[in-house]
Amino acid sequence: STGEDDELLAGLNPEQREAVVYRGQALLIVAGAGSGKTRVLTHRIAGLIKSAEAWPSQILAITFTNKAAAEMRERVGHLLGQVAEGMWISTFHSACVRILRREAENFGFTKSFTIYDSADSRALVKRIIKDLQADTFGFTVSQVTAKISKLKNELADADSYARQANFNDPQEAMFVECFRAYSRALREANAFDFDDLISQTVFLFRAFPQVAEKYQRRFRHILVDEYQDTNHAQYSLIRELTKAPESNELSGLASFGGGGASLTVVGDSDQSIYAFRGADIRNIVEFERDFPGARVVLLEQNYRSTQNILSAANAVISNNFDRKDKKLWTAVGDGEKIVGFTGYSGHDEAQFVADEIAKLHEGGMAYNQIAVFYRTNSQTRALEEIFIRSALPYRVLGGTKFYERAEIKDAMAYLSAVANPFDGLALRRILNTPKRGIGPATETALAAFAERNEISYREAMRRAKELSLGPKVTGAILQLAGLLDDASELVDPARVGGEAPVSEVLQLLMEKSAYVATLRASRDPQDEARAENVEELLAVTKEFNRNNPDGTLLDFLTEVSLVAAVDDLDDSSGTVSLMTLHTAKGLEYDAVFLTGVEEDLLPHRMSAGEPGGPAEERRLFYVGITRARKRLFISLAMTRAQFGETAVAMPSRYLQEIPAELVEWIQSPGMASRGGSDSRALGGGRGGGYGSRFGAGSGSGSASVSSGGSGSPRFGAAGGYGLPPGPPRPKTEWANRVTGQVRDNGDLTLVPGDRIKHADFGEGRVNQVTGEGAKRVAHVNFEAVGAKKLLIKIAPIEKL
Ligand code: ATP
Ligand code: MG
Repeated sequence: STGEDDELLAGLNPEQREAVVYRGQALLIVAGAGSGKTRVLTHRIAGLIKSAEAWPSQILAITFTNKAAAEMRERVGHLLGQVAEGMWISTFHSACVRILRREAENFGFTKSFTIYDSADSRALVKRIIKDLQADTFGFTVSQVTAKISKLKNELADADSYARQANFNDPQEAMFVECFRAYSRALREANAFDFDDLISQTVFLFRAFPQVAEKYQRRFRHILVDEYQDTNHAQYSLIRELTKAPESNELSGLASFGGGGASLTVVGDSDQSIYAFRGADIRNIVEFERDFPGARVVLLEQNYRSTQNILSAANAVISNNFDRKDKKLWTAVGDGEKIVGFTGYSGHDEAQFVADEIAKLHEGGMAYNQIAVFYRTNSQTRALEEIFIRSALPYRVLGGTKFYERAEIKDAMAYLSAVANPFDGLALRRILNTPKRGIGPATETALAAFAERNEISYREAMRRAKELSLGPKVTGAILQLAGLLDDASELVDPARVGGEAPVSEVLQLLMEKSAYVATLRASRDPQDEARAENVEELLAVTKEFNRNNPDGTLLDFLTEVSLVAAVDDLDDSSGTVSLMTLHTAKGLEYDAVFLTGVEEDLLPHRMSAGEPGGPAEERRLFYVGITRARKRLFISLAMTRAQFGETAVAMPSRYLQEIPAELVEWIQSPGMASRGGSDSRALGGGRGGGYGSRFGAGSGSGSASVSSGGSGSPRFGAAGGYGLPPGPPRPKTEWANRVTGQVRDNGDLTLVPGDRIKHADFGEGRVNQVTGEGAKRVAHVNFEAVGAKKLLIKIAPIEKL
């Protein structure tokens, strides 16, 4: 079998090999981005199976996203030359759902439990606050759910929290009450929220040792990718699973591998970006203490990126203090310079991204090798607009808005109501959707009736006659209950011919409830699009049935609730991928666009003031940079429409941490004049399009009138804010910002023909004024520098 081993080890360096062949109880691989951590895990799994040291079913591998799981499964299959059935390669959440579906009956749930996503959780909390008529003392619904989530990640439940809560604080007392009611409501609804999936599995294992043992016996090899981002609940789950089964000796199984499962974890503390969700870097730092005798392997060669990209990443991350210094190196060579771009607005920036993508594509790069990252989802709007206009194929990964749409949530609620008769949230959602004349009073009466008689909400609906409501309302309730019962029959496992496909169930529900028909008949033009979305969901169910011939309604609901939260169902290949920096973890692309590299976005304004916030945001930036294999584009805009208004943006503080010689800055045609002669006047342009160089950061001092280089030292000295030297900026606007005097020409009225004077560009004549309010743009012909577009509100101009 050494020949086979050789094959598995051939593509690995000595350190990677050591990690693949090590056979002790605990192994920690710490290494920077792109050093092959995930590859080592994959080879390790394949090696265990190939050498017959483990059956596929004895392996549990945890990845960060479903996409990563699918990739790992495929690669292992590739290395083995066959698909290894029975192997669990999944996210923490999926693994826990599988366990809970099998075991939930041990502690009062049924296997058909519903999974509440964060929107469901918020809806539930909102209802509870209303039902309790609680004064929240300024606490918002989101703050309550966030706090509950945080506590659950620390394995606290309502009772344990209440024991140490300060009830003299009215806000805290209120919170405890909400947390209690929320937990009770979930239990009554036979539902778990997202955080429960992990924490309840831990509680299950602790409360039922015989259940825990089943899994401790089963999984002999546990491997965890992205270990730096595990939170306390996930960490505890791993600890439970790696314990030696207690009754080993009694059952004579001691020989079966001795103690607990072997554990391999890989991680990079520089890529820890989930502290806000309770991830705990200490899990990696204290691994050696928790697992005595653990082997630690370090990897230093990066196989992903060019040296320029890597040098930028190294330089940026070295600004975080509390880290062990590690220098990544690569044998790939310098590669091309990083391209920097400052746009006039978010749209301008998006146009740059679209144009560069078009060029890369013309140059032979496949769209699916290109990704665009951003810090917040709100940034997608400008990108999507421009991409659609430029006919660039793209898809948005993660937090897919599709499953968050009201009409999709409605349709999914119908399915949940069929699968789980206790799911009051789903039932209440569809009770009067589409409108059936069932009002909130009836809804409450049904809920109270269910509670009083200790029956499910669905059963309460069936017995609506006992509520002495009006005949019309009673009829409507009974009709809906009948429809749900018909649908339930379709998915009864005892049904002749087996469970009907999900698409058939959804079709029945949507038709008989007249949901789609009502949308189609509506006069609201949006409703037509909503109807189409429901049709799209129907297509999704059909696709699901094709891919999973034995897939049940529960399987479908599970898949959607897990997948919608982190990544996409399908993986269409011919498209550019758009995603947040958080979603980008672990992935790699030939070309990466890092957009919106501005203060308030990166670091995000919410984190800038938090302890550890800017360091965590820097790690996020580091994650973004290190996704790129060959080309890296970093862009920002001088003004950004955000929070409902257009504001002046500042270059991110992290930009100045990238050595200037690694970046070539190019300028927007919105700021430079178009055309050959002008571009030469501005100094060494590439001609046309985004050709004009806009001053290559500090020192290089191009002849450009708008060179940021010449300006920056002065601003640095004057303001003392240490402005980043790298990106260009029109002097006056940034200077005003730094000295706290944000210009506001809000009431300046310009009309074509007006003459103005610009602080940098000199005198010119207004050709045209477009846009409205804060977004009014003057198109000006300057005598010295030609045509420019200026945002009137903030441009350093005066009317002559
Ligand atoms: P991240 O920290 O971003 O998750 P990682 O450490 O998991 O990165 P991988 O994704 O495993 O790194 O590897 C990065 C890239 O380098 C992959 O394309 C992988 O196939 C390649 N690679 C890793 N090791 C080697 C090697 N020894 N020879 C050739 N290519 C390698
Ligand atoms: Mg990885």
